[in-house]
Amino acid sequence: MPMITQHDILADLHVHTIASVHAYSTLRECLEEARLHGMSYLAITDHYYGQGSEVDKKNESNYMSYIEDWANPNKFGVKVIGGAEFNVGHDIFREKRLMEDLHWKLYGLHSWFIDRENTTLEELFQYFEQNASKFDAFAHIERELHKIDHSRYGRELTPEIQDFLKRLVILAKEKDIVLEVNEGTLARKEAGAPDRLEYWLSVARENGNRISLGTDAHYCELIGNFRRSIALLNKLEYPKELIVNCNMEQLDALLPAKFRDRVPK
Ligand SMILES: [Zn+2]
Ligand SMILES: [Zn+2]
Repeated sequence: MPMITQHDILADLHVHTIASVHAYSTLRECLEEARLHGMSYLAITDHYYGQGSEVDKKNESNYMSYIEDWANPNKFGVKVIGGAEFNVGHDIFREKRLMEDLHWKLYGLHSWFIDRENTTLEELFQYFEQNASKFDAFAHIERELHKIDHSRYGRELTPEIQDFLKRLVILAKEKDIVLEVNEGTLARKEAGAPDRLEYWLSVARENGNRISLGTDAHYCELIGNFRRSIALLNKLEYPKELIVNCNMEQLDALLPAKFRDRVPK
């Protein structure tokens, strides 16, 4: 099996700007770093908080949708995919037009937005199952699982955790949702999370899931560095054709038609 190299990675599909509030780089800085690191595409996936006031809604629909028109076509030598990261378990903004304007929607597991004491893994699975059709990818499904219902699930790769992850991998394939390999998970070494990632990725390898790569950068200089993800993908011999970031046709298909070079297959 040919090895995957940094050169094969054309996109970073999970990046935050200052619009996420707890991230620190502007859109321009992110685009400049993306180009420096050899990216041809950059998905901007600022957090969606959905606090609900009219001002929030106005800001959110603006910051999520203006970026493609501003940065494309190719002002920075990098094509911008306008997206957002939503929170599992959090009531999401259901305005149809906004959801349609977003071209890369992540459903991210963050325990902040979940009742950690009282939510079971089964309920967590149901959030994914019920909302799958609204999203393009499930982001960092391995994160923070030790904080969910922590009286029952530890940091170990228990049979319950394995079962949960395996069911999510199968669900994702059934619904054609991409699963994200998150460089931040591997870099930060949060309790148990890298082991959980390796576990589900090996299940996904057997199951033939499509995956995406995201640095989850909250600082621009982290954009496009997939060193740890690439090492893991090569260890598991993950097929390159199943990685969205390596496929120009699939990446171009995420852009509005007027910014595409290629007609997707
Ligand atoms: Zn964040
Ligand atoms: Zn993120």
